[in-house]
Amino acid sequence: MNDRNTTRWHQRIFVGEWTPGRGDTVPVIEPATGDQLALLSTASIEDVDAAARLAAEAQPAWAALPFDRRAAVLRKVAQLLQERAAEINHWNIRECGSIPPKAEWELNATIEQAHMAAAMPMQPIGEIFPSSMPGRRNYWQRLPIGVVGVIAPWNFPILLGLRSVLPALAMGNAVILKPDLQSAICGGLLLAEVFEDAGLPKGVFHVLPGGPVTGDALVRHPRVKMISFTGSTAVGRLIGETCGRMLKKVALELGGNNAMVILDDADLESASSCAAWGAFLHQGQICMQAGRHLVHRKVADRYAELLAVRAAKLVVGNPATGPVHLGPLINDRQAAKVAEVVERSAALGARVLAGGKRDGRFFPATVLAGVTPDMPAYTEEIFGPVAPITVFDSDDEAVALVNGSDYGLAVAIHSASISRAQRMATHLNAGMVHINDQTVNNEFQVPFGGMGASGNGSRFGGPASFEEFSQTQWVSVMDQGIQYPF
Ligand code: NAD
Repeated sequence: MNDRNTTRWHQRIFVGEWTPGRGDTVPVIEPATGDQLALLSTASIEDVDAAARLAAEAQPAWAALPFDRRAAVLRKVAQLLQERAAEINHWNIRECGSIPPKAEWELNATIEQAHMAAAMPMQPIGEIFPSSMPGRRNYWQRLPIGVVGVIAPWNFPILLGLRSVLPALAMGNAVILKPDLQSAICGGLLLAEVFEDAGLPKGVFHVLPGGPVTGDALVRHPRVKMISFTGSTAVGRLIGETCGRMLKKVALELGGNNAMVILDDADLESASSCAAWGAFLHQGQICMQAGRHLVHRKVADRYAELLAVRAAKLVVGNPATGPVHLGPLINDRQAAKVAEVVERSAALGARVLAGGKRDGRFFPATVLAGVTPDMPAYTEEIFGPVAPITVFDSDDEAVALVNGSDYGLAVAIHSASISRAQRMATHLNAGMVHINDQTVNNEFQVPFGGMGASGNGSRFGGPASFEEFSQTQWVSVMDQGIQYPF
């Protein structure tokens, strides 16, 4: 694969055009090998200001384009993402440690979202309401918000950036995307090339690679009217505070500590297969990762045994050089954190049934039995390939354990009785519940999001994307002039 270092994005940022960033120059390190893949130019606070000004200037004309012209650009984006699939997937694998099937799934899912976004501009943009006043008509209409800042994480950088960028553009907003520095090529710069080639008018989309300083400048910029943030709860809280003070719309999609609940009548072969997928996919670096396995005492030993057998079969290695199930963790800090959580939990009495030992940035699929709610493997979002198993004795206890976490993103329930599982679902603080499946699920026509510390109630997908990326205006019309008492 040609590494395209000579192309537009090399040591450039995209502020309506390709330009050297005024921030630091930082290396892109391949997590699997430690090799330097490229040098990144990053955006300074002045670059954020320039992008915000250009975006604010360009946005009204973009919103005023006939809807089918906006739709056509988004369809072209979908086509170009498809045409450049091999190159984008290559970077996702090398830059982010994704295994090829994950990279392919992520891009295909993004292309699907581009098609959905292309269909948004032709949907109804308002509703008519009755009036209590004779001769008056009421309607409300959707208007763009203006400039939307999108801050994305590194774990699914293409999908989680574009799931905001695409609908925001579709609704007539301008967008500034700030990718994470660990995924800025596939999750930002290559995308800027695609949007530029798709014919998006200059100034409507910007890509500003950078760290917290760049992100914070974007959040604070007065011309940026909305922030769509996907990332950790800690950073989400900071962003939420700033946006609250500025009275700025903010969509926060944050962390999780998601439970797989295995009831005593579950099909354990299926449950353990779901559990392995939910816990170990992308090395467990997924907000919806199955991070707590709550299992009825009657079936806990068998479930642990089946899951440990599945875990032990998973191959760990460099996804760019051979077929593996698990690639590297994103960086040394994250690998050290996963090891530390496993060690501390084992010291408190958890039994390591599979995996458990770090090899540099690689960490094997790990199963911990005998985990209690006071152990770090239970309380923390590990963001690694670890399945901690905790036992319960009744449905009520399972519900209390699930709801004992501040997070509320995804839960999976396994039971032969659908009605029992559905009853349980209604009592759970979770934005998404999957019965007889696992926690890592996303269907883009269905609103996606969390409760509690997993977000601020924002949702992506289907009808929710219209709500998130537009604002509404009530217009009332009197057929004739009216006289008030004074
Ligand atoms: P992170 O919060 O450290 O970083 C996310 C983004 O925020 C990055 O682009 C980063 O540069 C930026 N950022 C960091 N500090 C900032 C600041 N002070 N102001 C503005 N921007 C700032 O998260 P991460 O480690 O990249 O991602 C992992 C986390 O994201 C996990 O907690 C995971 O659960 C969560 N996540 C949530 C979802 C979801 O849809 N709910 C999806 C994926 C990941």
